[in-house]
Amino acid sequence: MWQAARDYLKSLFLIELFKGLALTGRYLFQRKFTVQYPEEKAPLSPRFRGLHALRRYPNGEERCIACKLCEAVCPALAITIEAGPRPDGSRRTTRYEIDLFKCIYCGFCEESCPVDSIVETNVYEYHFERRGEHVLTKEMLLAIGDKYEAEIEIARAADAPYR
Ligand code: SF4
Ligand code: SF4
Repeated sequence: MWQAARDYLKSLFLIELFKGLALTGRYLFQRKFTVQYPEEKAPLSPRFRGLHALRRYPNGEERCIACKLCEAVCPALAITIEAGPRPDGSRRTTRYEIDLFKCIYCGFCEESCPVDSIVETNVYEYHFERRGEHVLTKEMLLAIGDKYEAEIEIARAADAPYR
């Protein structure tokens, strides 16, 4: 009874509305935290898990030794690897693909890699326009690694004390 009367008076005098307006008014002149994306970007952690890349050593040799640990650990079964010996006898991947529609960006692949080959960059602005583009091939992953190696190196160095 009392509860119903109180609710009636509250709605009659628009108490909730004025409470909401008071809250809005309180924040109206305070410092704004809204980021005007895409002109402004929020800072990213060195551990940010964005687009994948395969890295090379400074001499141009690909780091990946085709151990398949990343493929085994991937919970989404997004990585496909085929491997074989090169003419020089070293073992390398002949096929390395990541299906980004399956990937859940957990970071297990880069955690498991013994040679820091597969990494997740801080690139998050990408899209696909044609069927099949969501599958990144070895060549595409190496090209991404080549393009963003400087940023990857900085992020790895910043995170090194905590690894
Ligand atoms: S980030 Fe996770 S889900 Fe994506 S490829 Fe790596 S291990 Fe698989
Ligand atoms: S990327 Fe790393 S974990 Fe995956 S197969 Fe190559 S060396 Fe092994």
